[in-house]
Amino acid sequence: MKKSGILLILSGPSGSGKGTVVEKLCEKDDFALSISATTRAPREYEQEGIHYFFHTREDFLQMRDHHELLECAEFCGNFYGTPKKYVVDQLRQGKNVILEIEVQGALQVKQIYPDGVLVFLMPPNLEELGKRLTHRGTEDADTINRRICRALEEMEMVDKYEYVIVNESVEQATRDILAVVHAEKMRCSRNPNMKKIFKGEM
Ligand code: 5GP
Repeated sequence: MKKSGILLILSGPSGSGKGTVVEKLCEKDDFALSISATTRAPREYEQEGIHYFFHTREDFLQMRDHHELLECAEFCGNFYGTPKKYVVDQLRQGKNVILEIEVQGALQVKQIYPDGVLVFLMPPNLEELGKRLTHRGTEDADTINRRICRALEEMEMVDKYEYVIVNESVEQATRDILAVVHAEKMRCSRNPNMKKIFKGEM
């Protein structure tokens, strides 16, 4: 029987560089990224089904009410949620599944799926966070300010996570996350049949 992959629940404030790190991880065959549903309007470069599944509020709430979402949360005035089926299918196939989600959703997932691993990605400092959000050029000043306030709130939640990684560079942060996944795979609780395998009973 194929072993289930690791469910990697990755959070971090806007501007922490989650997106870039996730892209790097997805270059590896054994990682799959869950594409979220959202009611946020697409940014210029964003494509349906690649960056998000874009929905009206009405459709989104219907998905939620039909239990099609693993978790969902409101973030800066928009809804975001993780479609359940893809995650379950990929884990069963042995893939490590990445959820790149904000803190409320992350904690919901951990409650229903305690085997999930909570990783918090932090920008090196507040100044760098402000710079990254401003230079990205995808949001207006009002939205940037809301996101900085939200980033400070999210930072308060870091203690609820199992791992914290400071994103000094994409390469280093990616390596650190891979190290976490590698170690998690060796947890005794994830390898309950080792004695039987050793004795040739399985
Ligand atoms: P953005 O609008 O910048 O794409 O995303 C805003 C925030 O929503 C980010 O922190 C992102 O990680 C989070 N997010 C994206 N998809 C989901 C999701 O499916 N569920 C939750 N709870 N948060 C999400």
